[in-house]
Amino acid sequence: MNARAVCVIDLDALAANLSALRRALAPGVRICAVVKADAYGHGAATCARTLAASGVDWLATASLEEARVVRSAGVATPLLVLGGIEPSRAAVEEACRLDVVPALLDADETAALATVVPAGQRLRVHLKIDTGMSRAGLTPTEARDLVPLLRDGPFEVHGIYSHLACADAPDPGSWRQQLAGFEVASADLAAVGVRPTLRHLANSAGLLADHALHLDMVRPGLALYGHRPQPDLGAAVNLSPVMEFATWISQIRTLPPGTGVGYGWTWRARRQTRLATLPVGYAQGYSRGLSNRGEVALRGQRAPVVGNISMEHTTIDVTEIPEARAGDRVLLWGAGPEAPDVMALGCAAETIGYELLTGVAPSVRRVPRGHLSDAPESVAKTTGREDGEVSFDGSR
Ligand SMILES: *Cc1c(COP(=O)(O)O)cnc(C)c1O
Repeated sequence: MNARAVCVIDLDALAANLSALRRALAPGVRICAVVKADAYGHGAATCARTLAASGVDWLATASLEEARVVRSAGVATPLLVLGGIEPSRAAVEEACRLDVVPALLDADETAALATVVPAGQRLRVHLKIDTGMSRAGLTPTEARDLVPLLRDGPFEVHGIYSHLACADAPDPGSWRQQLAGFEVASADLAAVGVRPTLRHLANSAGLLADHALHLDMVRPGLALYGHRPQPDLGAAVNLSPVMEFATWISQIRTLPPGTGVGYGWTWRARRQTRLATLPVGYAQGYSRGLSNRGEVALRGQRAPVVGNISMEHTTIDVTEIPEARAGDRVLLWGAGPEAPDVMALGCAAETIGYELLTGVAPSVRRVPRGHLSDAPESVAKTTGREDGEVSFDGSR
C-alpha cells in the first residue's frame, strides 16, 4: 500500500487519559466523552469502542450520522447528539432505533419535533441553554416559554446543559457568570416542574479549570485526546497525546547558497543546505499555516519546515542532521519529548491545535498503535518511487 502519511492512534493513552480525568472528578460525576468530528480526527469507531470498554458513562457526537458510526461500531453507551436532530419522522425513528438522546437547541425546531414524535412515545432529550456562547441553544426565556411542551409534550427531559465560551482564559469571571446563569435557568425550570436528572456544563477547559463547573457530568473532548486547551491548565492531571502523525523523507538534495525553495521562493538557502522533501502537504492535513513555521522530528532531533507547504509536499532543512536519509520516518506531531506538540504547532500556524487534529485528511490511514512497527527499522520497508511518493508496506 502506498501511503504519504499515517496516523498512529494510541488507544492505551486514550484509556489512560479517561482514567486521569476520572481521578480529577468527585465520585459520582459522570464523563461524557465527545467524539464528534471523527473523534477529533482520531477515528470515532475505535475511540468510542475504547472509551466504552474503559467505562465511559456517555458519548457525544455532533450529528445523527456520527451517532450511526458509533452504534455500528457496536457501542451501546448512552449517546448525546449535540447538534440535535431534524424535525422529521425519519430522524425521530432513527434516533429511537439507535437509542440516542438528541439535544433541543431551538424553540421552533422543538415545536416542529413535537409534532413528529409518534403518538404514545416520549423522546428522551437534553435541553441546551445558551448562557453566553451565543451560538446555539435556547435562551433561558425561550426555555421558559417551552415549558408546557417540555412538561406535557412527547419529551422526556433527561438532561440540561450549556457550553462555556472562555474557560481556557485565566480569568474565572466569564465562567462564573455562565455558571450563575445556568443555575438560574435550571432553577426556574425546576420551579415549574422540569427537573432533568443530569446537569452539565464543562468542556475540557472547564473540567481542568474549576471543580464548581463539574455538576453532574463533564464533557471533555480535547483532554481525552491528550491535550490541554492552555499549556498550564490542569497541570496535575497527567495526559498523553493519542495521535501521532508521521510521514517519511521521500528525497534529499543539497542546495547551493541562494537557492529558493517552493512556491513563491519564500525561503532561500543562506548556506549550503541539505533539504529533505516529505510527501505530505495541506491535502493530507499538514496545514499550510506551518510554512516556514513548523518543526518536525526525525532521528530524535528537530528540523524546521522551510518554504511554503504545498498540496502534497513539505520541505525541511536537515543540514544539522547529517545522518538523515531518504526513507527516514518523520514525526509531524505526536507524543514523547522529541515529538512536536500539536497545540504549539496550532499557535505557530495562527490557529488552534483542534483544527490541526480534525484537519488530518480522511485519506490518511488511522492505525492503532501496536499494529504498525513505529521503530526506526520500519523505514527499511519504505521505498522511493519515481514520483517521490513513499510506498509503505508495513501498514494494514
Ligand atoms: C466540542 C464540545 C465539547 C468538548 O470541548 P473540548 O474543548 O474539546 O473539551 C463539549 N461540549 C460541547 C457542547 C461541544 O460542542
